[in-house]
Amino acid sequence: MTACANQSAIQAAVQEHNVSSRLQWKLWLYTNFDCNLSCSYCVAESSPSAARRGLGLENVRRLVDEALDLGFQRVFFTGGEPFILSEIYDMLAYASARMPTTVLTNAMLLRGQRLDKLCAIANQNLSFQVSLDGGRPEHHDAYRGNGSWLKAVEGIRRLKAEGFRVLISSTETPANTAFLDELHVFRRSLGIPDEDHFVRPLARRGFSQEGIEVGVNTLIPEVTVTINGVYWHPVVSPSDTDMLVSKQIFPLANAVRAIEQQVAAVENQANMARTEFT
Ligand code: SF4
Repeated sequence: MTACANQSAIQAAVQEHNVSSRLQWKLWLYTNFDCNLSCSYCVAESSPSAARRGLGLENVRRLVDEALDLGFQRVFFTGGEPFILSEIYDMLAYASARMPTTVLTNAMLLRGQRLDKLCAIANQNLSFQVSLDGGRPEHHDAYRGNGSWLKAVEGIRRLKAEGFRVLISSTETPANTAFLDELHVFRRSLGIPDEDHFVRPLARRGFSQEGIEVGVNTLIPEVTVTINGVYWHPVVSPSDTDMLVSKQIFPLANAVRAIEQQVAAVENQANMARTEFT
């Protein structure tokens, strides 16, 4: 089937099932699962000792091309920590030359040669989403490890100084829930506006033993690709199978169609409210 034929089939499925308002046309790519941190609430079960499970540059290029053909509007790179990878700059350059691209990072590694390489590929399509859980170290480090708040803030400041757009995502936890106003004040002092800040609840997934239950019935689907297959949503760990849509990554159109059909099937069984979560 050609790309145009694929797109027609998907648009037909969208119209048939009236799911276009619920399927987020955002593509998530898990570049890797290893990380320089080992946060106790990590849904991806990442850590320095986690297996890499790398997606690879050629797969990323093909996924971006197919996503464009399918009408996806934005791509998000996540992990693990993507900036562990030497090929992340080529991945981001390829994607951001073609569509709005956001990379999720803890920002702790973004200095020296890594920052230089980022500056070399800077463009208006490329933005960063950095995790920051507090206006003070204790509100962030409780789940992410001692010293991580300071290094994250330093990374944010370096990115801002180079002119990059930086968005902040925060996880609301028992350690910071009483201090979110303080977090907002601090975040604004970093030059990051309200519309570029997301606060989400803890999810009981991966390493996290607390938080809300999330799954196919409660999450608006956002097509997510790892080296192990295509998933319903990025809030997923490598060991999860309940949100696995397809073990076959290519062609991406098949998994997208399967998600749309699953949306229709689930809604026929139960009229449940879903949340965007990311
Ligand atoms: S939450 Fe993010 S920074 Fe923390 S271990 Fe997981 S991937 Fe790494």
